[in-house]
Order: sequence, then structure tokens, then C-alpha cells
Amino acid sequence: MQQTKEPSFRESVDLMFNRAARLMDLSPGLEQKIRVCNSTYTVRFGVRLRGKIETFTGYRSVHSEHMEPVKGGIRYALSVHQDEVEALAALMTYKCALVETPFGGSKGGLCIDPRQWDEHELEQITRRFAYELIKRDLIHPAQNVPAPDMGTGEREMAWIADQYARMNTTDINAKACVTGKPPHAGGIQGRVEATGRGVQYALREFFRHKEDIAKAGLTGGIEGKRVIVQGLGNVGYHAAKFLSEEDGARVIAVIERDGALLDDKGLNIEDIRQWMNRNGGLLAGYPNATHVPDGAAVLEEPCDILIPAAMEGVINLSNAERIKAPLIIEAANGPITFGADEILRRKGCVIIPDMYANAGGVTVSYFEWVKNLSHIRFGRMQRRAEEARSRLLVEELERLSADKGLGWTLAADFKEKFLTGSDELALVRSGLDDTMRTAYQAMREVWHSRQDVEDLRVAAYIVSIGRVAATYRSKGL
Ligand code: GLU
Repeated sequence: MQQTKEPSFRESVDLMFNRAARLMDLSPGLEQKIRVCNSTYTVRFGVRLRGKIETFTGYRSVHSEHMEPVKGGIRYALSVHQDEVEALAALMTYKCALVETPFGGSKGGLCIDPRQWDEHELEQITRRFAYELIKRDLIHPAQNVPAPDMGTGEREMAWIADQYARMNTTDINAKACVTGKPPHAGGIQGRVEATGRGVQYALREFFRHKEDIAKAGLTGGIEGKRVIVQGLGNVGYHAAKFLSEEDGARVIAVIERDGALLDDKGLNIEDIRQWMNRNGGLLAGYPNATHVPDGAAVLEEPCDILIPAAMEGVINLSNAERIKAPLIIEAANGPITFGADEILRRKGCVIIPDMYANAGGVTVSYFEWVKNLSHIRFGRMQRRAEEARSRLLVEELERLSADKGLGWTLAADFKEKFLTGSDELALVRSGLDDTMRTAYQAMREVWHSRQDVEDLRVAAYIVSIGRVAATYRSKGL
């Protein structure tokens, strides 16, 4: 039972903002300027489908234009509404500031159940929605750059990019109007996995700091940790897969809309995903684990790390008290409500906050945007320079060996690797890793150096609000 009324998602984000802003030295005017959402555009448009006109409602909200373009995904779900889009846009502002991608915050949404329409119909709907946004510069490489979010992916981004290109035939930077495109349509390697990969890198960084691990009452590293993942969509699937396959975590439960799968020995994530692909996204009937229909109750099972990776508000006043995980990493946006956050903190739970934990997506989006604007393969210039240096070194070694009659030779496979440098995917991953490490350290520094900063979320807000404030101040606001 709910004890008191929960604030809305947007109010929850504002309350979290206020907790941090209270500890900062901001003028009330600037504080308010940063917190409020600048504008939300609502559009209702009709598309002729199956012989009749269907009307859809969509939103694009711009939270902060302290940097442009503004950035943030487009969500397709029946639950989309203005309050949610505004909360998500605000989180984008703080997220971008925290990982230092030079964007303001924005978010879009369309009230639709994408499963109800076939591919061709979704294309018509997406193109029409994009048309409405493009007409108002709410999709534009220099002003507002969407990306995937719940219910959308590469396919929708490719339609949006094409729609923009058709409407702006002379824009040489047209491809940079949206990120998350398929690699063959101007996208970048590693964008699909990026948010899940970012969750993995965030946890790896957390587990490099003994003091932080101890705060959660844990010891050791990721290996052997019992993990529960809620939501096996793009983010949850990749996070669970990488943590279990590469870091030795034991995923003991996954929760989806039709219940949960449990196996204390550890689940095979890839196998489950294949099963879901064949069975309409459902877990029921999966042969290699125990299925329970009450997924929500599984959130409360004992584990070491809980990863909510789907919707906002899943951990709220009605269940927070019973959550047992000592460490929660928010792979989703806003999975813990303001009230639940207070309860969990009181219990000593360490929360790695959304604006940091799921920033992998926008970080790699930034690489894609830069790649599109530079009209060159990502990292190609660096790679050329690296290759030239490597070649010099190899030649020097071989010359030395010959001069001195040492008879050294370099193993062919080593030479090959050394001389060809790294590919786009490797560069994206290392750029992401670097970003996640740097951002964690910025948060951590505030968390540990200030007596009045209780937790990582407040620390994250302090870092990002501070950066947004600095930008506004230098612009003369
Ligand atoms: N929708 C993602 C998020 O919530 C990605 C946004 C982007 O890449 O612009 O962060």
C-alpha cells in the first residue's frame, strides 16, 4: 500500500534537484532558471491507416538551451505524457553536463503502442511526427538532435534522418540531425550497446574504489556478485549480458512484463533474449529457469546489485522499505522516486544515479554526431597519426636490430595489430570508458570531500548544476 502520495516524475526530479541546489551557492533566479523546463511543444496529427484517420499525440520538450543543440531520445509508449517528457528532458540536461557532452537537454515522446502497428505503418507515423518536429526546428543538427529511447531504435532514427534530408536537401550536415542511426546510414559502431556498456563501465569504476564498495557493505569486485535486472530491453539486456559474460557477475533474476526468471546459479542472458525474440518478448515457458508471474516481488529478493533498467518509478513508496539490495544502479531514467530514494538512503543503500549510470547512450551519440559533422570515419585522423608513429617505431626497431646484428624479428600478428591501430568500435568503447571513469571521479570527489553531501545522486547534481550554472554565467545571464 502506498503510504503517502508520490510526487509526479517531474516533481520528483525537481525535488532531487532542490536537495542539491540547497547545498550550492546559486542565486535564486539562476537556480530557478536551471530547474524549469524552457518549453514543451505538443502536436496532434492524423495519419490515414487501415482505412481511417488515426490521431496521435506527440511531444518534444526542451529543458535547457545553455548549450545547443539540445539532445535527448524519442520514446514510443502509451504511457507518454507531458510531465514524463519534461522530467526526462531535465535529466538529459544534467546527464549531458555530468559526462561533458556539449548539449542542452531535451526529450520527445509519442503516445503509441508500437506493437499495435506493422513496420510500414510505423514508418508513416514516424515520418509524419518527424515532419511536424522538423518544421519547427525541433529536429535539427545545430538545434535539437533526437536519439532512440524506449520503444524506438535504429530503424526509427533512419526514417527520421531520411525525412530530415528530404526536407533539407541543401543541408550538408543533415545526417547529424539525429543519432542512433544504423551504421550503414551514418550511425556509429557500438551505439546500440552503448547504454548497457556504460552501465558495465560505471560498475567497473565503482568497484575500483574500496571505500565506495564498503559504503554499500560489499567487498571484492563484480565477479560472483548476485545481480537482479529489471527490464530486458536494449539497456537491461546489454548490461546483463556484458556483466555476466565478461565480468563474472551472476544474474540470478531477470524481470519482464510477464514475470521473472530465476536461477541462483546464474542465468544465460543471451539464451533468454533469443527465447524472447521468438516468443513475442515474453519470458513464460522459458525452459532453463524458474518462471514466476509476480515480477514486482522479485525486485525485493536479496541480491548484491539491483539494476532497474526499464521504466521510471518502479521503486517507490510502496516497495522501497522491502528492497534488500545494498547497491542499486539506475540503468533506467528515474526508476527510484524521491520518496523511495529517502527510504533507501536511510537503510544505507548506495545508489549509482541515472544521470550517470545511463549516460553511455548520449556519450556515444555525441561521438556519432561529431562523426557526422566531421564527414570522416570516427577517429580516422587520430588513427592515421597513430599508424604513422607506430610505423616509425617498428622501422627503428628493425633498423637497430639489423645494425647490431641482433637478428630480432617482430611476430607477424603483433606487427599487424600494432600497425593497423584500432577500429571504430574499439575507439568508441575506449572513449566511453574514459568518459564513465572521469564522470564517476568528478561525482566521487564531491561525495567524499563534503560533509554535507550524503550520496552520489546529490554529488552528481552538484557537479552538473555547477557546470550548467557556469555556462549561464559566462553567457551573461
Ligand atoms: N534516450 C537516451 C537517454 O535517455 C539517449 C539520448 C541520446 O543519445 O541523445 O539518455
